[in-house]
Amino acid sequence: MLFAGILGWAGDEYIGPGVSFFTSSVGGGLGWALLGGEEVRVQDLPEDGGKDAKFVVDRPARVRSIISTLESSSVGRKVQPSPPSSSLEKLSKKRDDIISKIHDSSYVSSVKLVSSRCESTGKPQRLRQSYSRTLVDKHSNSAALAAASTLMYCASTATNNSPSFAVVRPPSHHATHQRGMGGCLLNSVACAAFHSLEKYGSVGIVDFDAHHGNGIANCVQEEVRIKYVSIHEGISRNVMNQRRPEYDPRSPSEIDTGPNGNIKNIELSKGGGRDAMEAALTAGLEFLEGCDILLVAAGFDAHEKDVTSGLMLKSEDYKMVGEKLREFGTPLAVGLEGGYTQELAGERDGSDSVLSDCLLYFVDGIEGR
Ligand SMILES: [Zn+2]
Repeated sequence: MLFAGILGWAGDEYIGPGVSFFTSSVGGGLGWALLGGEEVRVQDLPEDGGKDAKFVVDRPARVRSIISTLESSSVGRKVQPSPPSSSLEKLSKKRDDIISKIHDSSYVSSVKLVSSRCESTGKPQRLRQSYSRTLVDKHSNSAALAAASTLMYCASTATNNSPSFAVVRPPSHHATHQRGMGGCLLNSVACAAFHSLEKYGSVGIVDFDAHHGNGIANCVQEEVRIKYVSIHEGISRNVMNQRRPEYDPRSPSEIDTGPNGNIKNIELSKGGGRDAMEAALTAGLEFLEGCDILLVAAGFDAHEKDVTSGLMLKSEDYKMVGEKLREFGTPLAVGLEGGYTQELAGERDGSDSVLSDCLLYFVDGIEGR
């Protein structure tokens, strides 16, 4: 397989092909995506975006740090700057068709329009049809499209022995039919799931980001050949009972299975740690049993140092997560979702960041190291 040259050797021991990694360099070098390649400067923010910007945690340094950590690891991993251009060309029409199915056309147009407006003003802007914390800059539209294509490519090329990982931004699992939120603009995971139906009879998605993947659930709930499991931190009844807008990304309920029963929500309690995550993965993968391919929404914000959740996983616990997914025994395609500790800690480019550590453990688990 293309790019399967990732080393499959640990010392003298052959352990089979490793994960193939792809990123997307839309926007110039590594400067793609939400809020561009530069760090946000407060004076550049729109007036109505100041409050949002305070919470924008998806920044370019996340992916830069992951790539440098993967490539400097002793295993000899290489992150391809993009899927092959000939494949991307073929995928773009399919991607656009899927996007027009899973997202409202006026919403898709607005992401494009706002992004192009930022080109002339040079400033990020708040996306109107969005929940809070979602700003757009001149790279955002092309970055979101490229992220979707990259994950679609990973899903179409992954095999039982060669998993693929799209190390991309912006994340996607909160993007619903009509709305971007939580830094997510277009739903890359749903795009990859629908694309996978060309090749597979059934598709399983497991999402272990600490937050409810409301966007994926919303985009796939009518397609019973796709099954979706979201494992996330449960919200206390006090908060749940407060009056909240219908598009609030927090989990509606553990018993919400969607209109067709193809959705499973698993809520974890604050401080649940490794054991709770392991039990949830066991239950979640049981729900997905029989699916022909497993897509993974890989968020690492359940880590104990991540202030966006209280799930208290340690970096090494992500090895267990990778092992469980490996044991599922189908082709595996992974897309990066959350995981922000390095930003919150102010370590913009640290190669020893928590996010990168989690991801390395996770990949070791997938590769059976
Ligand atoms: Zn998250």
